Amino acid sequence: MKISFKLKLFFSYICVILASFGSIAFFLDKNLEENSLHSIQSSLIIQANLIESQINRKQLRQEDIPHLESLVKALKLKTNCRITIINNKGRVLADSDKTQEEIPQMENHLSRPEVKAAFAGETGINTRYSATLKFNMLYVALPIRDNAEIPGVIRLSLPLEGVQKTLFAIRKIVIIGLAFALIFAFILGSILSGRTINQINRMIQVSRKFSRGDFSHKIIRISKDEVGELAFTLNKMAQDIEDKIKETKAQNQKLAVIFDSMIEGVIVIDKTLNIISINPAVEKIFNVSRKNVEGKAFLEAIRNNDIYEIISNVLFEGKSLSAEIALVLPVHKTFEINATPIFDTSASLGVDPKRLLLNEAEGSQRSDNNIVIGCLVVIHDITEIKKLETIRKDFVANVSHELKTPLTSIKGFVETLLEGAIDDKENNRNFLKIIRNHTERLDSLVKDLLSLSQLESKEIILKKTNLNLNHLVEDVISGFKSQIKKKNIEIKNELANDIFLAADKDKIEQVLTNLIDNAIKFNKENGIIRIYCEKTNNEIKIYIEDSGIGIPVKDISRIFERFYRVDKARSRELGGTGLGLSIAKHIVELHDGTIGAESVEDAGSKFWFTLPK
Ligand code: ADP
Repeated sequence: MKISFKLKLFFSYICVILASFGSIAFFLDKNLEENSLHSIQSSLIIQANLIESQINRKQLRQEDIPHLESLVKALKLKTNCRITIINNKGRVLADSDKTQEEIPQMENHLSRPEVKAAFAGETGINTRYSATLKFNMLYVALPIRDNAEIPGVIRLSLPLEGVQKTLFAIRKIVIIGLAFALIFAFILGSILSGRTINQINRMIQVSRKFSRGDFSHKIIRISKDEVGELAFTLNKMAQDIEDKIKETKAQNQKLAVIFDSMIEGVIVIDKTLNIISINPAVEKIFNVSRKNVEGKAFLEAIRNNDIYEIISNVLFEGKSLSAEIALVLPVHKTFEINATPIFDTSASLGVDPKRLLLNEAEGSQRSDNNIVIGCLVVIHDITEIKKLETIRKDFVANVSHELKTPLTSIKGFVETLLEGAIDDKENNRNFLKIIRNHTERLDSLVKDLLSLSQLESKEIILKKTNLNLNHLVEDVISGFKSQIKKKNIEIKNELANDIFLAADKDKIEQVLTNLIDNAIKFNKENGIIRIYCEKTNNEIKIYIEDSGIGIPVKDISRIFERFYRVDKARSRELGGTGLGLSIAKHIVELHDGTIGAESVEDAGSKFWFTLPK
C-alpha cells in the first residue's frame, strides 16, 4: 500500500504527540498517585500518633469499651478517619464506624498485615480493596505501648476515593490537552507540510515530464531549505541532460550527414552478420534499399560472397582486412573493400546498446582484450582508378612502341650507310630521305606528346580572344594547299563571315588543323570537304564533313582515345601519330565544349565540335 508523504508526516506528528503526552501522563499519574498516597500516609501516621497518646493504658488493659468507643467516635468527627482499637488478641475493642452490637461480629484482626506489623513494634501500613465500601482503603496501625509491652493497636483507615477522583480529573485534563494538541498539530502540520508537499508534488510532476524528454518546464524553487536545494539540483540536472541530449543529437546528425554523403559505401554489420546500417552509396552499388536490408542477414540482403567472407574473417580474427573485388551485377565495377572490426568501445557509432549487449552475451571474439561486436565495411569504387591505371600502362607501351619503330628504322639505315652504302651513289640519298622522314615522324610524335601532356596537366591557361571563325578556317585551309591539290579535293567553307567566338586562337586552330588534316588524309581522290556550322541559343556546333573512307561503327567510340587508329599502317603511312583527335578532344573540353563523330563506312565521316558562344 502506498502511503503518501503527507500522511506519513501526520503520522509522525501524531506519534510524537502521543508519545510525549503518553509519557507525561504516565509519569504525572504515577508521581501524583505516589505523592498523594505518601502525604495521606504521613498525615495518617501523625494523626495515629496523636490518638495513640490520648488512649488511657489502664482503660485499654481493662477493656473499658464504652470509654474507648466514645473516644474513637469523638476523634472520628475531628479526623474524618475510621479509627479502630484492637487488643493484643486481635479482637476489635472499639471502631468509629461500627456500633457496639456490630463489633462482636467483626473478624479477628490479628492476621491483618498492618496490625501484625504494629504488634511487631513497627508502623504498619497497608492498602487494600474494601469489598464493603468498593474502594481502595489505606490502613495505618501503630502499637499502643505501655512500658515495654504492647497491649493494643490503634488503626486508622481512610478511603482512597479522593485520590482516585483527583487522578481521574488530572487524566481528563491530559486527554483534553491531548485532543487539543492533536488538533493543533493537525492544523500546524497542514500549514507547515502544505508548502513542502506542494513543492514535492510539483517536483514529481515536472520530473515525470523530464523522464519523458520534455524539458520545457522548470521546477519553481520556493524555499531555500533542503527541498529548495533539491528543486535547484533537479533543474540543473534537467538542464545538463537537455544539453547532453542536444549535443548528442547534433553529433548524431553530423555523423548521419557524413554517413549519408560519403562517396564510399559504408556497411555496419553486427556480430551475427546482420546489417545494422548502410549508406546511400551502398544502396546505389548493390541496388538495394536501406529499409529493406537493415536488420537482415548480410547474405540475404546483399548477395556477395566475397564481401561476406571478408566480414566473417574480420569478425573471427578481430583484425582489419582489405581486398579488391570485381562486381558484375548490377554494375560491372571494381571495388576496394576495407573491413575493420568494431570493438565494444564503439557504442558512439549509434549502434543500439541493447543489441551490443545481446551480442556480448552471446560471446564474441577478443582482440587485445577488446570484444569484437561488429564490423565496419567501407567500399571504395576504384573502377576509374583501375581504368586510368590501364590507360597509363597502355600509354607507356604505345609511346615506347611508336618511338621504337622510327628509331629502329633510323638505326638500321644509319648502320647500312656506315657499312658502305654511303658510297652507293644510287641509294645513299634515298636512305637519307627515309631517315629524315622517320626523324620528322619522331619530331611530330614528340610535339604531339608534349602538347598532350601540357593539355592534361590542367595548368594550361587559355588566352581567349574574339575570333572570326570563317577567317580562322580559311587560314587553316591555306596551310593544306599542296595536299588538297595533290588529291584534287574540293573544300567548301560554308561558314558565314559574322561568326565570332571567344576562344584561344592557337588551340582552336590546332583543333581545326587536326580535323581538316584527317578529312584530307582519309579522303578519296577528287573528294569533297564541307565546313559549316549550326547555332543554338548558347553554343555553336562546327561540322567538318568529308566524303572519305569513313569509320567502322565499332571504332567510332574509340577514335578519340590516345594512339587509337582504325588502320595503324595506313595512319603511319600518312604521317599520323594517333594523337590528333585526342588532342582536339582535350582542347574542346577545355573550352567547355563537346566533340563527336558520325560516319558511314566508305561514304564519309562527319566530325563536329561545339563551343560556347
Ligand atoms: P592520326 O594521326 O592517325 O590521324 P587521329 O587521332 O587524328 O590520328 O585519328 C585517329 C584515327 O581515327 C585515325 O587513325 C583514323 O583511323 C580515324 N580517323 C580520323 N579522322 C578520320 C576521317 N576523317 N575519316 C576516316 N577515319 C578517320
